[in-house]
Amino acid sequence: MLQQVNGHSSGSDAQGRESLREDLQEFLGGEVPLHQLDDLTKVNPVTLETESAKGTSASVLRCLQARYTADTFYTNAGCTLVALNPFKPVPQLYSPELMREYHAAPQPQKLKPHIFTVGEQTYRNVRSLIEPVNQSIVVSGESGAGKTWTSRCLMKFYAVVAASPTSWESHKIAERIEQRILNSNPVMEAFGNACTLRNNNSSRFGKFIQLQLNRDHQMTGAAIQTYLLEKTRVACQDSTERNFHIFYQICKGASADERLQWHLPEGAAFSWLPNPERTLEEDCFEVTREAMLHLGIDAPTQNNIFQALAGLLHLGNIRFADSGDEAQPCRPMDDGAVRTSALLLRLPEDPLLETLRIRTIRAGRQQQVFRKPCSQAECDTRRDCLAKLVYARLFDWLVSVINSSVCADPASWTTFIGLLDVYGFESFPHNSLEQLCINYANEKLQQHFVAHYLRAQQEEYAVEGLEWSFVNYQDNQTCLDLIEGSPISICSLINEECRLNRPSSAAQLQTRIESALAGSPCLGHNKLSPEPSFIVLHYAGSVRYHTAGLVEKNKDPIPPELTRLLQQSQDPLLKVLFPADPEEKSQEEPSGQSRAPVLTVVSKFKASLEQLLQVLQATTPHYIRCIKPNSQGRAQALHREEVLNQLEACGLVETIHISAAGFPIRVSHRTFVERYASLRRLHPQGSPHAEQATLRALLQDILHTLPALEAATPAAPAGATPAPVHCGRTKV
Ligand code: ATP
Ligand code: MG
Repeated sequence: MLQQVNGHSSGSDAQGRESLREDLQEFLGGEVPLHQLDDLTKVNPVTLETESAKGTSASVLRCLQARYTADTFYTNAGCTLVALNPFKPVPQLYSPELMREYHAAPQPQKLKPHIFTVGEQTYRNVRSLIEPVNQSIVVSGESGAGKTWTSRCLMKFYAVVAASPTSWESHKIAERIEQRILNSNPVMEAFGNACTLRNNNSSRFGKFIQLQLNRDHQMTGAAIQTYLLEKTRVACQDSTERNFHIFYQICKGASADERLQWHLPEGAAFSWLPNPERTLEEDCFEVTREAMLHLGIDAPTQNNIFQALAGLLHLGNIRFADSGDEAQPCRPMDDGAVRTSALLLRLPEDPLLETLRIRTIRAGRQQQVFRKPCSQAECDTRRDCLAKLVYARLFDWLVSVINSSVCADPASWTTFIGLLDVYGFESFPHNSLEQLCINYANEKLQQHFVAHYLRAQQEEYAVEGLEWSFVNYQDNQTCLDLIEGSPISICSLINEECRLNRPSSAAQLQTRIESALAGSPCLGHNKLSPEPSFIVLHYAGSVRYHTAGLVEKNKDPIPPELTRLLQQSQDPLLKVLFPADPEEKSQEEPSGQSRAPVLTVVSKFKASLEQLLQVLQATTPHYIRCIKPNSQGRAQALHREEVLNQLEACGLVETIHISAAGFPIRVSHRTFVERYASLRRLHPQGSPHAEQATLRALLQDILHTLPALEAATPAAPAGATPAPVHCGRTKV
C-alpha cells in the first residue's frame, strides 16, 4: 500500500499523496509546496525508524530548504520549533496584529508554525487553572542563527499579550513595566554584544530571563541572570572583529562637551578599538542612553560609566618598553596614556604605573615582602587584567541595577516564563576553555531536553496502553561523566592543576587526561595532532580541545595589587564596584603552596549551570532551535552542508534517533481511517464499529506490506526488522 503512495498515480493514489502531504504538514507544520512532494515523501515520518540518521537528516534538510525557498521560516519538528534565520526584514511576521491573532486563536498550534505558537502555548500553560506550571523556552543555535532576535521577539509578544490593561491608562509608556523589561535589551546588548566574524551583533554572554506574572497573568516584572561574559574581549580583539558595542557608541555618539570631558577627540586612535570605521546599526548611543534612563540609570551615573569606559580605552594605549635590566621596571612608552587613564578612572597616577610594572611577592618563613619588576609581557598582562576586572564588575553591576529596576516584589508574582538565550554548541579549529564550558552547558541542556522528551513520550504510550521503554536509546550521561563526573573528570583534572599550582605543560595535562580517563568511551583517540590536545565525543560531534593555556585560563588570576589599586579610586562608580575591604588584610601575592583554594572559572560555571538546571527542571520546557541558513548572512541562500551540520549540532538528528527508538508517528484512529481508507477503496462511514473494522483491515494491509517495502527501500539497513505498527487506545 505504501509503495503505491510513493510510486505512481491513480485516482486513489492522488488522494493518498494528498494524505501524505497533510501528514507531513502536521509533522512539520504549515504549507508544503506540492511540487516538492516527491522529495518530501522521503521525509514521511513512517520511514524515520528505518532510515539511517544521515538519510533522515538529509530529508529534513530537503524539507527545510523547500520551506525556506517559499519564505516559510518556522517548522515544527516534534516538540521542537526549527527557526531559520531569514536574514532580511520580515515585518509582517512579527506585527502586533499577528501576535494578537496567535493569542486569540482557539488552537494556535493549528496556525502556521511560529515562535508565537510557542509563546502562546507557554502562556496558556501558566494560565492553566488545573495545574499552572512555570514554563521555560530554551532558544539555542550557533552564533548568528537568531537566538537573541527570537528571545527579543518573544519578550515583545509577552509585552503585548500579557500587558496589564490598567497600566496603559495610569502610566506613561516609558514607565510601564513591560517597556522597562524591553529596555533591558539595548543596554545588555550595548555592553555585552560585539561584532564578530560570525555575527555583527553577537552576544558575548549567556542569558536567562524570568518573566514574572501575577495572579491575573500579567507581566509584573523580570529577573535576569547572565553567564560567562567574554571579558577578554575588552583587552584583546581579533583584527577582523570589534570590542563591545558600547565603546564605539561613546566614541561616535559623544557630544562635543563629552568628548572634551572623556578625552575622546574626533578620530583618536585606540588600540582596543579595532575597525572604528565600520558603522553598524548597533552603534546608536542615543538608544542605549534612553534605555538606561528608563531603567533608572540617571544622566550623572551614565556620565560616570562612560568616563570610566573612556579611561579603559586610554589604559589600552599604555605600552611598555623593556628597561634592558632585570632589576629595573619597564618604561611606559607614552606618559600621556598613563596620565589620561589615571585621570578618567580617578586613580593615583604613580601607584597605577607601579601596580602595572611591579609585582609584590611574600616569601620565606617570615613571609617577607619582595618587589619584583615585571617583564614587558607581564606588564601587558597586568594592564589587560585590570581592564577585564573593571569591565566584568561593571557588567555585573549593570545587570544588578537592571534587575532592581525590573524585578517585581516577590509577593506580587505567582508564575514565570523563563527565556534562555544560550550559546550553541561550538567547534572551531582551535578550541579552549570557553568552548569546553559552552559545550558542557549544551550537553547538560541536551540531557535535560532528552529527559523531558522521553518522559513525555513514555507518558503518552502509557495513556495509549502501549508498553514501550527506550531500551535502544542511550543518553549523553557518559559524556557528562567524562566532563564533570566525580571523582575524576576533565573538569576535576583541570581544577586539580589549578589547585596544586605547579608548573605544568600543555603536554602533561594532555597525558594526565588521557591516562586518567582512558576508560571513557567519549574520550576520542587523539592521534596525529601537532599540538597537545584531547578530543571529546559530544552528542553533536567530536571536538578537539587544546590544552595550552587551559589551566591559566581556568585560574583567571587577579593579582591582589590590582584590586587594591582600584579600591583607591576616587571615582564614585569604581568605589561601588571595588569597595574597600572591611579589614585591611595583607594582600600581597603569597608564593608557593600557601595559596588559598581558588574558585576556578570551571567551578563557578558549573555552579551557575547547576542552578540554571534546577530552575529549568521545575518548569515545562519548550525548545526553539535556530538555524543559520548560510554563514554570509545572505537572504534567500541555504547552504546544505552548513545547515546539515547545525541539524546535527542542535540535536535534531539526535531527536530523530530517540523518536525512532519509540513510535515516531502517532495518528488518531479516526484520522488514520479517513486518510488512508481511500487507498484500499474503502469508504468508512457510519458507526464507530465500522470505523474500527476499516482500521483493522488497513493495519492488516500495512503489516503485510511493510516487509516488502523494507526490502525495496535502498536506504534500509541490511537485516532490519520491519517497522512495528501498534494500535493504541486512541491512536495508531
Ligand atoms: P550569537 O550567538 O552570536 O549572539 P544569535 O543567535 O543571538 O547569535 P542574532 O543576533 O539573534 O543571533 O541574529 C543575527 C542576525 O540575524 C540579527 O542581527 C538579524 O540581522 C538577523 N536575524 C535573526 N533573526 C531574524 C529574523 N527573524 N528576521 C530577520 N532577521 C533576523
Ligand atoms: Mg545573541
